[in-house]
Amino acid sequence: MKAVQYQQVGTKPVVVEVPKPEPGPGQVLLRVTAAGMCHSDLEVMSWSADQSPFELPLVLGHEGVGTVAELGPGVRGVTEGESVAVYGPWGCGVCRNCAQGKENYCTRNEELDIRPPGLGRPGAMAEYLLVDDVRHLVPLDGLDPVQAAPLTDAGLTPYHAIKRSVPKLVGGSTAVVIGAGGLGHLAVQILRATTAARVIALDLTDEKLELARKVGAHEVARSDESAPARIRELTGGLGADVVLDFVGIAPTVKLAAQSVAIAGDITIVGIGGAPLPVGFGLLPYEVSVASPYWGSRSELIEVLDLARSGALRAHVETFGLDETPEVYERLRAGEITGRAVIVP
Ligand code: NAD
Ligand code: ZN
Ligand code: ZN
Repeated sequence: MKAVQYQQVGTKPVVVEVPKPEPGPGQVLLRVTAAGMCHSDLEVMSWSADQSPFELPLVLGHEGVGTVAELGPGVRGVTEGESVAVYGPWGCGVCRNCAQGKENYCTRNEELDIRPPGLGRPGAMAEYLLVDDVRHLVPLDGLDPVQAAPLTDAGLTPYHAIKRSVPKLVGGSTAVVIGAGGLGHLAVQILRATTAARVIALDLTDEKLELARKVGAHEVARSDESAPARIRELTGGLGADVVLDFVGIAPTVKLAAQSVAIAGDITIVGIGGAPLPVGFGLLPYEVSVASPYWGSRSELIEVLDLARSGALRAHVETFGLDETPEVYERLRAGEITGRAVIVP
């Protein structure tokens, strides 16, 4: 089968022919119908050999949707031909967090060498994808595969990030979304669908700001040095109750610190890795800072339900498997608006 592989540190991904996997006991083989392209892949491919925890070559793609092609011995719960989304942050299924569905915070995955598809295990940018356990599948129940693929990460991650702040996002509150890309444009919609907050989206280009407005942002502004003052102006001097940073680099983290209100939340989702000084006098009083990772199994079900209700719609551009290396370059150059989805 065809697959998109990251083969060696410092090289671009390539489309190659690899053996079609066979499902072992408990495993499920999917025929991939759509695979979303996440900015994290670019991050992974920028790591040096000693930074990278992954064995190479690696088939990329951690936002996968497919139809059940083959069941390994002993699998029950899905049927051949059924359309399913893949829950990506695989855990052990047994530890305290996994037992609550929070496999994204599995405490034993490293010890047991359990890794997500596309982030250690062969990923979804291929004709077939092997899923380790039926519990990592969620039926699409009528959702379009191309629509559903980005929801498994670009939808699920902001959904989880926003959920912790919902009690603060009451009528009259303000949420700021920094970076209206794949995750950010879905964050805007999730905020609109699940909270009463006024949403301000910040990005660098007109196209991104236009999309943010189209999907429901009340206000949009350039993410530059004037942004904190603009946010203070729009909030009567108070600042934003919640700031979600989908970039995480020095200028955006600084912007978050300068824009947040007293007792507000700053949530850093972007993996830019810039530090945010926390301590007395460094941030407004009682600001809470979090750096969440992906989301839980039950939250993925909630996100798909939200999409089915019509409240969530990914803005997608589709491409064939052969085009993938070039699409990564477009993503790197900031030329993808919304999410790029590969249709093998
Ligand atoms: P993307 O490339 O689709 O979107 C990023 C957006 O940020 C783009 O629209 C870009 O124009 C904008 N941007 C860049 N610099 C900016 C700045 N200085 N100010 C404002 N906007 C700026 O990326 P994505 O796939 O949506 O991923 C967003 C980030 O989230 C990445 O860092 C990715 O690695 C990370 N991520 C984290 C998790 C997690 O679990 N924590 C999960 C998925 C992705
Ligand atoms: Zn991702
Ligand atoms: Zn676990």
